[in-house]
Amino acid sequence: MLNFRNTNILFIVLFLSLVAIQYYKGFDISWFIALVLVYSAVLFYGSFYIRSNFFLTSFSGKKTNEKIIALSFDDGPSAEYTPQILDILREYGTPATFFVIGENVEENKSILQQISTAGHLIGNHTFFHSNWFDLQPAKKMQEEMQQTQSLMHQITGKQMNWFRPPYGVTNPNVKKAVKGMGYHTIGWNLRSFDTMIKDPAKLLSRLKSMIKPGAVILLHDTQKVTSEVLPAFLQFVKEQQYSVVPLDKLLDLQAYKN
Ligand SMILES: [Zn+2]
Repeated sequence: MLNFRNTNILFIVLFLSLVAIQYYKGFDISWFIALVLVYSAVLFYGSFYIRSNFFLTSFSGKKTNEKIIALSFDDGPSAEYTPQILDILREYGTPATFFVIGENVEENKSILQQISTAGHLIGNHTFFHSNWFDLQPAKKMQEEMQQTQSLMHQITGKQMNWFRPPYGVTNPNVKKAVKGMGYHTIGWNLRSFDTMIKDPAKLLSRLKSMIKPGAVILLHDTQKVTSEVLPAFLQFVKEQQYSVVPLDKLLDLQAYKN
């Protein structure tokens, strides 16, 4: 399996072989540059593609033929859209998981309580969700996670067990922080791109065409288009005889610590 450790071993072997060859055949720097470029490309792929499980193992879906899927909403709670989404989910009797940002929880404590009371699951999605989250030392990352964890516990009495990295980006420091918190990392295997697609018809057709058994769908409860499309999508799901199940059931993984 191509993971961080194996990649490093492979590239050290390649580097040493190259040194040996160059020693006998004469020095040519272009081979070393090529090696560094390939190494960087592999690391880049591992960082940005959460399902590669390159730096750490994440739970991103289920291999199954059973027509089951799970919904996840990131980046909330949002005063504008989360209540609407909760209403739609209630209407359709649909469970979901919300990966919340601590800063938004602070502003919308009662909405977090509503999510929890409605029986939906909640996971940690950092405190600030800054673009630079992944560039921080592990200690800083863990502090952020802990801030959100404490806030969640204070409001709902629950201790989260799941972390979803912003943008799905992972690296050795994220791994260390996740381990420090005793968390499991949760990814996805169906990205809606609802933060980019503004046309409801386009978003709906993307979701309809991509639905598959065992899908963990990434949505955002901060987007107007998401709340607009959700009823039609849930209707489609029903017509296609899919069942939306809670993420802990789909992954067979506990959402909260005992
Ligand atoms: Zn996010």
